[in-house]
Amino acid sequence: MQEKGTISIHTENIFPIIKKFLYSDNEIFLRELVSNAVDATQKIKRMAALGDYKGELGDLTIDVSFDKEKKTITVSDRGLGMTAEEIKKYINQIAFSGASEFVEKFKDAKDANEIIGKFGLGFYSAFMVADTVEIHSLSREEGAEPAKWVCDGSTEFEISPGDKTDRGTDVILHINSESEEFLDKWKLQEILDKYAKFLPVPIRFETKTESVEDGVDDKGEKKWKSVEVDNIINTTNPIWTQAPSELTDEDYLKFYKELYPMSEDPLFWIHLNVDYPFNLTGVLYFPKVKNDFDLQRNKIKLFSRQVFITDEVKDIVPEFLMLLHGVIDSPDIPLNVSRSFLQSDSNVKKINNYITKKVADKLGELFKKDRKVYEEKWKDIGLFVKYGMISEDKFYEKGKDFALLTNTNGEHFTLDEYQEKVKPYQTGKDEKVVYLYATDADKQDTFIQSANKKDYDVLLMDSPIDSHFIQNLEGKLENASLKRVDADVVDKLIDKEGGYENLLTDEQSKKVKEIFEKAIGSQTYNVEVEGSSPEELPVTVTMDEFMRRMKDMAKNGGGMGFYGAMPDNYKVGVNGNHPVIDRILKSEDAAEQERLAKQAFDLALLSQGLLTGKELTAFVKRSVELI
Ligand code: ADP
Repeated sequence: MQEKGTISIHTENIFPIIKKFLYSDNEIFLRELVSNAVDATQKIKRMAALGDYKGELGDLTIDVSFDKEKKTITVSDRGLGMTAEEIKKYINQIAFSGASEFVEKFKDAKDANEIIGKFGLGFYSAFMVADTVEIHSLSREEGAEPAKWVCDGSTEFEISPGDKTDRGTDVILHINSESEEFLDKWKLQEILDKYAKFLPVPIRFETKTESVEDGVDDKGEKKWKSVEVDNIINTTNPIWTQAPSELTDEDYLKFYKELYPMSEDPLFWIHLNVDYPFNLTGVLYFPKVKNDFDLQRNKIKLFSRQVFITDEVKDIVPEFLMLLHGVIDSPDIPLNVSRSFLQSDSNVKKINNYITKKVADKLGELFKKDRKVYEEKWKDIGLFVKYGMISEDKFYEKGKDFALLTNTNGEHFTLDEYQEKVKPYQTGKDEKVVYLYATDADKQDTFIQSANKKDYDVLLMDSPIDSHFIQNLEGKLENASLKRVDADVVDKLIDKEGGYENLLTDEQSKKVKEIFEKAIGSQTYNVEVEGSSPEELPVTVTMDEFMRRMKDMAKNGGGMGFYGAMPDNYKVGVNGNHPVIDRILKSEDAAEQERLAKQAFDLALLSQGLLTGKELTAFVKRSVELI
């Protein structure tokens, strides 16, 4: 007996709407149908386990197939099946409150995920790519009649007795003319790889050719032959579903390679596993990074019960951990709703906090367990830790115990250790400890040497994140400030009691200043005569710490336009105590005075790589004359 009916939606033409609005994302039809097949299979397994199903389970492999000629794609499962009554109940009555609400929501929807999940329309996504959809099902119930359902995308459906003889459901899509691209082996394989690679029930798609041994030839060498074997596209128990205690390092590395075939081995990993107050499993890997922030983003894959959902995990994973790789699986994340909902969802916040805490704990543990290994990896780990400390106060609180500072000799210190180390030598008369740092060990070598000569330590802060980290540290450290080692002459970097006084008289100082100003002849340089050790250079060219930072920020688009627009401005520190200055003063010849001053100034520029072009040529010429 054939029965006709109307699908109970209050809108006449829901399918044209589905097609029109969801077109961009239409490949997810396969995810939805395969997920339904997996659910049906899991249900029959559970029923069997509970004794509610007494029949044979048989081979539960799900089959995905296509027929280019007939223009069909079929998904077949050996799950619990549906009776005609169940089809009417589950498939025909689309569960949403009102068509008007539905259409209203549709207007702003950005992707199919949002609507499909929210309105329980998984099955109907088939109509994005099909004109007509058939369901052939045989229920697990004893003596059940097979049922056949056909719908051509209007609200009319037809249900009649079917001819299916084994338990389960076949969904057959008659692909529409705009969607014929899906009638292709590679296309389907690609979609299955994306969404179904880790589903918990084996999924077979076509066959593939494999070489197998075929006896030995006359010479006793192995023979091979090609055979067609089932192509099972998924791994049913990916490592995140297994107990960490049963996994080896090799397992984790192998899985990593499976996810990112082209990547270097990761530094280490964290296995996530919670079931209260939310459900979450996963494995996060710390990749080897090459200071290349953007390239590495969006590498974490988000799953819900092993179904791939997205690799845009923004909002679920803290911003600074977006550089990590791996997978997160949680049925508790409301995957199908909008961004703004995600941001305010309390589960998402808890997950976010949990991941942050887990990562911090793991880092702390690695540090404590084997500091040497940790230090070796610090160059790579440091990026995450610094980024985390800058972007989340909560992480700073934990990170301060295992964040390392590295000095120009390659030694590592925790923040506390470093404070202890430099306090005795680098405290100014205002009781503030000054941390010195270099951003380029080669270019700033003269300054580093000068500082080291005074028993000052110099940190190496040469990664792109360090300029932000410096700002952040300064805000957090009490009674300490950071100065780039070339921000001033060494005696002025840390202003101490009993420093060197300028032994020149005011009049002499004024004279020296004039000679230098004339010799330099540029507004860019402010000459200051001051007292340093006679062992130091006669002249040092520096840029004030504050000024340089502001300019750096303006350069990086930090909204400091005002500073960016200002011309470069350097201080020329003339060391009044240096013998060369004495010589300049004693000379009676104005030309000779100017030449010496210019020479001393150029030497200062040279030591910082600031002397180039014509100036450099003139300097070489002058030097030759002098010798
Ligand atoms: P959802 O899966 O979100 O419930 P769907 O529209 O995809 O929404 O499916 C509606 C219902 O139809 C399912 O909940 C299930 O009861 C039934 N169903 C769909 N596909 C199958 C299948 N292959 N085998 C058994 N039941 C199915």
